[in-house]
Amino acid sequence: LDLQTIALHAGYEKNSEGSMAVPIYQTTAYEFRDIQHAADRFTLKDVGNIYTRLTNPTTDVFEKRFAEIEGGEAAIATSSGMSAIFFAIVNAAQAGDNIVCARQLYGGSLTLNTHTLKRFGIEARFFDVHDMNALESLIDEKTKIIFFESLTNPSIDVADIKAITAIADKHGILSVVDNTVATPFICRPFEHGADITVHSTSKYTTGQGLAIGGILVERKNLVEKLRANPRYEHFNEPDASYHGLVYVDVAFPPFTLRARFSLLRDLGAVPSPFNSWLFIQGMETLSLRMREHSKNALELAEFLESHPKVKKVNYPGLKSNSNYTNARKYFLEGACSGLLSFEVETFEDAEKIVNATKIYSLVANIGDSKSIITHPASTTHQQLNEDELKACGVPAGLIRISCGLESSRDLIADMKQALEA
Ligand code: PLP
Repeated sequence: LDLQTIALHAGYEKNSEGSMAVPIYQTTAYEFRDIQHAADRFTLKDVGNIYTRLTNPTTDVFEKRFAEIEGGEAAIATSSGMSAIFFAIVNAAQAGDNIVCARQLYGGSLTLNTHTLKRFGIEARFFDVHDMNALESLIDEKTKIIFFESLTNPSIDVADIKAITAIADKHGILSVVDNTVATPFICRPFEHGADITVHSTSKYTTGQGLAIGGILVERKNLVEKLRANPRYEHFNEPDASYHGLVYVDVAFPPFTLRARFSLLRDLGAVPSPFNSWLFIQGMETLSLRMREHSKNALELAEFLESHPKVKKVNYPGLKSNSNYTNARKYFLEGACSGLLSFEVETFEDAEKIVNATKIYSLVANIGDSKSIITHPASTTHQQLNEDELKACGVPAGLIRISCGLESSRDLIADMKQALEA
């Protein structure tokens, strides 16, 4: 089946009412028939619902559908993108270990990896996403994952996914790709060797800025990489917290199984059934929206590139962009998603433009159907001085756009009047 068909049907068997829409199972817990039934559920002899912190039928449809669209074997939904990333890391690493991550990451992932993980005893080592030598030099026997974004936010770089996953494979390390900005309809990390993907479903999946959520997807046959791998002893030894379960020895995808029955059980970052239902609605139109987001962003980028007040435009769909070759190699049908940035001369010029736009909303988000404008130097990066801003690729005059689904004619006209106000 084509991805668009999967997005509408996968994971859902109509119930006895024949409900076309996936029902929302708004419940905390599930009744067992008798003591034996309850015991079988707890030992996984009978795989089924116990409590919504572990599983829920609405969330189950969302997980199955997303896993199939991504081309993976199984998925686990979480209450936010950040919790999906945290789960991916701590499902592989513990105190004393390290992770190797791209420097070009979403700000929340940077603070998680740099500061919060340090307090858990996990060290983060950073490489430039285009520097494979630097990446390989950071790996040692305690490295548990290599983490990067396929299309980076906010720097808008496109990773050479095959080059990075080949290094991960050479060292028997799990590669984890944040595929949030590209989405499965533009980028297919598993086809390029990735082991795990994570998404903030708060972005394009919900699509209209309706809910916070995340998802972690495991590729097919990951068990082969984990089995007898000395980096991942905890997948190969009995789990004392789960009746001595050995994750690589059971007939379920091991990474998501452990994330569910160990991390979700103990940390509880579970989505509400209603939010899972919203993500299911979003997935039905995700492919159509990504096509339109990409078309609008390319047209706006081309306009900006032609405007004398604009110093530089960052959009991988532009031939002039240094990421163009990677975008052609890894992105389907040349679509490059809705995220772009451009640079004007000064901090004050940028402020004036942001304040003068009428259609674009000044919001700290991306992936909404409504267009969003942000000025990193006065918001997310305001604590940095001019030199520090330059060092992390955020010049004072940089403006970021998450291009929405309005008419591209209106988006361009509004940007033109703001630039010339
Ligand atoms: N990953 C990327 C690429 C993001 O842009 C974001 C949020 O902006 C996140 C992860 C975190 O997701 P959430 O806000 O759902 O926790």
